[in-house]
Order: sequence, then C-alpha cells, then structure tokens
Amino acid sequence: MNWYAGFETAVTENVPLAPKTWFNVGGPARYFVEPEDVAQTAAILLRLRENDIPIYVLGSGANLLVSDAGVNGAVIHLNRSAFKTIAFEGRQVSAGAGADVQRLIRECAHKGLSGLECLAGIPGTVGGEVRMNAGGAFGDIGSQVLDVTVMDINGQSYTRQRDDLVFEYRHSNITAKLILAATFELIPDDPNRIAEKVKEIWMFKRNSQPLAENNAGCIFKNVNGTSAGQLIDKTGLKGLRIGGAEVSQRHANFIVAKPGCQAADIQALITQVRRRVQEKFSVILETEVVIW
Ligand SMILES: Cc1cc2nc3c(=O)[nH]c(=O)nc-3n(C[C@H](O)[C@H](O)[C@H](O)COP(=O)(O)OP(=O)(O)OC[C@H]3O[C@@H](n4cnc5c(N)ncnc54)[C@H](O)[C@@H]3O)c2cc1C
Repeated sequence: MNWYAGFETAVTENVPLAPKTWFNVGGPARYFVEPEDVAQTAAILLRLRENDIPIYVLGSGANLLVSDAGVNGAVIHLNRSAFKTIAFEGRQVSAGAGADVQRLIRECAHKGLSGLECLAGIPGTVGGEVRMNAGGAFGDIGSQVLDVTVMDINGQSYTRQRDDLVFEYRHSNITAKLILAATFELIPDDPNRIAEKVKEIWMFKRNSQPLAENNAGCIFKNVNGTSAGQLIDKTGLKGLRIGGAEVSQRHANFIVAKPGCQAADIQALITQVRRRVQEKFSVILETEVVIW
C-alpha cells in the first residue's frame, strides 16, 4: 500500500520544483504535499515518519536553491487557504504560515498598524520569513513577533511566546519542523504614513536589486557586520559567469539565473565566489540561501 493512502488529495508525485522557486531552476520533489489543514498536516507528518521519508518545507521559494537532481523526500507546502488566514485583534495580527508577507504588510497598512513595513520588497511567506528572520537595514520580522505556533516531527503543535524566542541575523531558534502561524504586535499609526514608508523601502530595493531577473536574494550572509556584497565587489567578481549563472552587476551578493541556467551552474558559481573571496580577504562566506 502507498504510504499516502487516504491522503491522495494532498499528495502528488514527481512535481517539478523549479517553477515554485524564485531561481526557477532545479529538479522535482519525489512527493509534493499540500495538506488541507492542521489536523491533516499532523497525520501526514506521522505517516512520513513511519515510512522514514525525509521532510522538506517550502514557503515561496525566495531563498531556495533546489539541486538539479531534486529532492528525494516529501516537500510540504502550506499553500491551502487554511494556512493563509490573516486576522486582526486590536494591535495584534495573526497570520498563517502560508500567508504572503507583502499582502500582510498591505493589510496592516490599511488597518493603520505599523511595524512590518520593514519587510517591504522581501518576498516570502510568513513561515519562511519567520524561519529566516527576514529583514535588513530597516528592521527584521523577529522584532515584531509576539508568538509562533509550530508543529514538531511527531505532529504535535504548540505555541512559543516571545520571551522564549531568539531572533538573530537571518536566524531564529525555532527548530520545530513546521511553522504554522505567527502573531505580531504592531503600533498604531496613520495608514498614509505607513503606505508612504512601504513605498520608500520598496523603491530603495527596486533601485539596488536585480528584480527583473531570477534570483534568490542575498546568496551569502554578511560577516560580523561586514557586507558580503562589498567583499565580493572588491574581489572584482561582479559579472562573473558560469554557465547560465552570473554574479549580478547590480548587487554583488545576488546571483542571477539566465535562461538555460542549471542549479549546478549556481552551485559552481557559489563555490568559485567563496574561494576567490577567501583568497583575497581570508574570510569564508557562509551561504544565506538554503540549498536542497
Ligand atoms: C528579490 C529578492 C530579495 C530579497 N531580499 C531579502 C532581504 O532584503 N532580506 C532577507 O532577509 N531576505 C531577502 N530575500 C530572501 C527571501 O525573501 C527570504 O529569505 C524569505 O524569508 C523567504 O521566504 P519563503 O517563504 O520564500 O521561504 P523559502 O525560500 O521557501 O524557504 C526558506 C527556508 O525557510 C523554511 N521554511 C519555509 N516555510 C516554512 C514553514 N512554514 N515552516 C518552517 N520552515 C519553513 C524552508 O524550509 C527554508 O529552509 C530576498 C529574496 C529575493 C528573491
């Protein structure tokens, strides 16, 4: 019997992952799982465990490089409506892990709640952005979090409060397999002023990033406050190309995938950039992009 008997509406086999990532490269998922709701997610996790099937979690694929071989496991995608809810209560907003962060920002601005606009122009879902503590010069998502509801590998879900959560540069101490939802505490402000701030941050991003080309944001983490992009730029690597992968001319810490690009091209370019920067600055760059 198939491991997913009874969950046929949620599980599909051999699903190409490339179109589900911002790089638009990489191979298929052996199993692609879109659960209906929390209860079904828990049941599927148990079944995956019983069958020793590795579990991966996909948000909007904005920080992800999938290898050309794809993923020999189950990719869970919290993309059904049950995981995309956004609900307001006073100064708090609770959002499902699958909710799009840009939509969340717009709804908060509309309600006159400020705090999340620092995430303008950072593509992703609530789950992906909380996991990565997405952010930048204008702030990060972790500083607005009140609580996060997660599910562990046994299908148990529980809520972790702000006191117990640690958000650091592109990192959180959330180790549970799945983030299901998060609540943010925001500050009341004038909707027009919030919208103006969102626009300003968005324009800044548009002018400094290669948004017209396939990419996954910053490839490497900054090193103790030193910009990885600057190190790459000073090594003279802007425009360096391997196959269809190129170090962006616009932002040295971005790699863009040209038509025909393979994941292997991007992986080779990452290796080459890391080696050249190490030779010049004796600094080993750590990847920010998640590689499957
Ligand atoms: C043009 C562009 C600009 C960007 N600019 C920035 C920026 O300024 N600052 C910044 O921080 N990032 C930036 N990024 C990267 C990206 O937007 C963030 O990392 C974002 O958090 C990715 O969210 P996602 O939903 O797409 O996650 P994915 O890329 O799908 O996944 C990222 C990681 O989160 C995990 N994950 C996803 N959803 C869940 C969940 N529900 N539960 C548990 N784990 C989960 C995945 O397993 C993976 O490990 C940029 C990307 C692009 C393409």
